[in-house]
Order: sequence, then structure tokens, then C-alpha cells
Amino acid sequence: MNYLNILITKILKLLPKWFAKPFAKPYVAGETIEEVTAKIKSLNGKGFLATVDILGEHTKSEREAQRITEQYCMLYDEISRKNLECSVSVKPSHIGLDISTALIMKNLSAILDKAVNTNNFLRIDMESSKSTDQTIQIYQYFRKKYSNIGTVLQSYLLRTQTDIDQLSELESNIRICKGIYNEPQKIAFKSRDDIKNNYILFAKKMARNNHFCAYATHDQELIEDLLNWISKENIPKDLFEFQCLYGVPMQGRLEELIKEGIKVRIYVPFGPDWYDYSMRRLNENPKIIKYVLGNLFKND
Ligand SMILES: Cc1cc2nc3c(=O)[nH]c(=O)nc-3n(C[C@H](O)[C@H](O)[C@H](O)COP(=O)(O)OP(=O)(O)OC[C@H]3O[C@@H](n4cnc5c(N)ncnc54)[C@H](O)[C@@H]3O)c2cc1C
Repeated sequence: MNYLNILITKILKLLPKWFAKPFAKPYVAGETIEEVTAKIKSLNGKGFLATVDILGEHTKSEREAQRITEQYCMLYDEISRKNLECSVSVKPSHIGLDISTALIMKNLSAILDKAVNTNNFLRIDMESSKSTDQTIQIYQYFRKKYSNIGTVLQSYLLRTQTDIDQLSELESNIRICKGIYNEPQKIAFKSRDDIKNNYILFAKKMARNNHFCAYATHDQELIEDLLNWISKENIPKDLFEFQCLYGVPMQGRLEELIKEGIKVRIYVPFGPDWYDYSMRRLNENPKIIKYVLGNLFKND
């Protein structure tokens, strides 16, 4: 079945986009602000926090980056108007990183001002290693001016150890994830064990530095290891949360965490640019094909 799933994923990439849409559906919470806010409201009703992301990356024109920035600002207004427990995540290349430093700084500044005005939070997602330096520098710059900002570090990168040390002088709010981009061996761990061990090492380091840490993973073994360590070391519940992606099945474990008083936040992406994101998710776990096929003919 696994080979068949991988084959289907490969074939999907060759077909017109509309063909892939049913496979993308589990990972994407709609195309409009109305659709995504309704899904977030339902998640909040079940005790989940959320962080919302407008899908898209590597924006090519200044005008488009400006339009997306305005959408992010509108999103904060809608979150506030609808009283949702939801922060925002943004990919730097979506709002101008590839175009110019001046543009990304201007756009991030506008989004952060809106986040402050609506009493909310912004997390800068981490993209491929080509932009790690710049993303960290941008985070450091804005963190000195704003407290409602966080970023992401990836445990597959060899450099992350040094980055955590460098960020330790700021009171940081970091999401740790394994990392999703295909990075070369000279800068990234490739073995699952190395990536996982590094993840735990970073989580410990963040807690020692008294920094807030969002553990973003669906790896059940890693989640249990983190929980054992948290309980052994008595890590305060306001110093961490768990995060998962919308649509990834977790067999009820997240609901159990909520019952234990642990915060769980779901990363909820939406928007018309769903294709690349969904294909990355399918690539990551072709087993999902079976799950998607099973749900294809069910209604929401
Ligand atoms: C909230 C959140 C935010 C993230 N932000 C970033 C970011 O800013 N930058 C970045 O590089 N990466 C980001 N990622 C992706 C992350 O780096 C990993 O690529 C991804 O989470 C898979 O790693 P894992 O820890 O879940 O473990 P894995 O070992 O990959 O997965 C563990 C298990 O989870 C299940 N699973 C994983 N993915 C899927 C899927 N797509 N569909 C169905 N089941 C699945 C499978 O059962 C799998 O065996 C984020 C992930 C999360 C959860």
C-alpha cells in the first residue's frame, strides 16, 4: 500500500490542480476568511487554541506582498471581532522577503502594529535554510521593539544549537519543529534519531533559559518523551504548549492533553494558494492518501 500511496502522490503532481483538491482538503481550512474563522471557532469550542496562516510563499511583486499584508491585518480584526483564541503565523517570503529587506520590514511592521492593537501575537514561520539568517535577524530586530512576536527553529539544522544560544539574551518565544525543507547533508541532520535527539536537547535548553516553547510535532514517541521530561522537571504549564497541523490525525491524544490542562494549538492554513502546501504535506506522509480516500465521499 505504501508504494501505491507514494505513486499516487507522484502522479497527483503531474495532473491539473483541481484533481489534487480532494487530497488537499483535510489540510486546508477553506479559501476565505469566513470559512477559516468558522473552523477556528469550532476548534476553540473543543478546547484547542489556533494559529492561522494565509497560504502562499515566494511572492514576486511588491504590490502582491502589500495586498497579502493587508489581508493579514484584516485577519487580526476578524479574530478580534469574533473573539477567537487564535494567533497568526506568517511566512516571510509571502510578504516580501524575496523582494527586498526594506519591504519585508515595512510589511512586518504593519502586521505587528495590528497584532498589538488587537492584543494578539505573531509568529514568523521558518522557511528553507536560504532565509534562516535573515529570518533570525528580522526576529531579533522586532523582538527588541515588540513582545508579541515569536519565531521557529528547526531541529534538523546543525546551526540551531548556536541560534538558540544567540537568542538566549532575548526573552524568546520559539516554536521548535523538525523542519520540512529538503536541506543538504552538510548543514542538516538526516537521521530520524539525530533530529529527534536534537529536538529534545533544544526543548531542554529553552526551558533552562526560561523561554516559552511551542513543541510542534505529530511524532507520538517524541510527544511522550517530552511529556515525561516536563513532568519529571516540573516545567510550568505557562512555559510551553503543543502544536499540530490542521488535518493531521492524532487519535485523540490532543484531547487528552487538553484534559490534563496542557495548551494545544492547531496551525490552521487557508486561502486559494493551497496547492504547494498540501503537496508538501502529502509528500511528508503518503499514508494520508488512505485516510483521504476514506473521507472523500463524506460531507463535512
Ligand atoms: C504547528 C506546526 C508548525 C510548523 N511550522 C514549520 C515551520 O515554520 N517550518 C518548517 O520547516 N516546518 C514546520 N513544520 C513542519 C515540521 O517541521 C515537520 O516537517 C512536520 O511536523 C513533520 O514532523 P513531525 O515532528 O510531525 O514528525 P514525523 O516523524 O514526520 O511524523 C510523525 C507522525 O505524524 C504523522 N504525520 C506527520 N505528518 C503528517 C501528515 N502530513 N499527514 C498525516 N499524518 C502525518 C504520521 O503518522 C507520522 O508517522 C510545522 C509543523 C507543525 C506541527
